[in-house]
Amino acid sequence: MTDAQELTETGFSPARRAELAERLEAVRGRIAAAAADAGRSDLPELIVVTKRFPASDACALADLGVRQMGENRDQEAAPKARAVAEALPEGLRPSWHFIGQLQSNKAKSAVRYADAVHSVDRASLATALDKAMGRALEAGEREGLLPVLPCLIQVSLDPDAESGRGGVQPARLAEVAEALRSAEHLELRGLMAVAPLGADPVEAFGRLSEIHGSLVTECPQATWLSAGMSQDLEAAVAAGATHVRIGSDVLGPRAGVG
Ligand SMILES: *Cc1c(COP(=O)(O)O)cnc(C)c1O
Repeated sequence: MTDAQELTETGFSPARRAELAERLEAVRGRIAAAAADAGRSDLPELIVVTKRFPASDACALADLGVRQMGENRDQEAAPKARAVAEALPEGLRPSWHFIGQLQSNKAKSAVRYADAVHSVDRASLATALDKAMGRALEAGEREGLLPVLPCLIQVSLDPDAESGRGGVQPARLAEVAEALRSAEHLELRGLMAVAPLGADPVEAFGRLSEIHGSLVTECPQATWLSAGMSQDLEAAVAAGATHVRIGSDVLGPRAGVG
């Protein structure tokens, strides 16, 4: 079997389902404990990042009640989302959160399955997504999906842009926010960030939380704060994350990088 075929296989074994159930429960426990430690009465939404894992895992996770899934590459996400939608009854279909760097020429494909895009990092991408949304709506390609696409701005928490993990520098956030706010088919829903490699996530997410606070003052619907991965979910929950994006702690170690 080629890799591409493997990724779109949808049948899962009872053993894999049981393994995922156990890991999922452990992650849910960590999220609940982190929320309690932070004195939060709400729980952040868990987005399970299925990148590099086959559609069969997404189907097993859906069977376990997971409804929010994340992907970071359009080439992988598009066929996987299609395979999952075909394999599952409508009520089990997950929402797909696009969380990776997106080339503007992939906007057209992404809006056919994405329920939200967390990684808007430049005004030109907002323009491309808006245009793609207009076309997709006209062509009836967003059946079952929202007519207005929730978008988050990815903020860089690394002052040294060269070594960054993507995102717009905070000083240029307003430019991207303006592009999203003036787009007809997009809605600015909040911010996303990845903690810089080797940095203290508590400090980094603290800065993110401040930036988010001032954005919400200007833009009250921008309430989402997407932060926290397997390594640093506790720090993100303490900083007020509304959405955590967990891959390896639910699915296991990934082959390759990213
Ligand atoms: C891969 C990825 C995640 C999940 O990372 P894990 O360390 O596997 O939990 C979260 N966010 C983004 C943007 C990612 O690319």
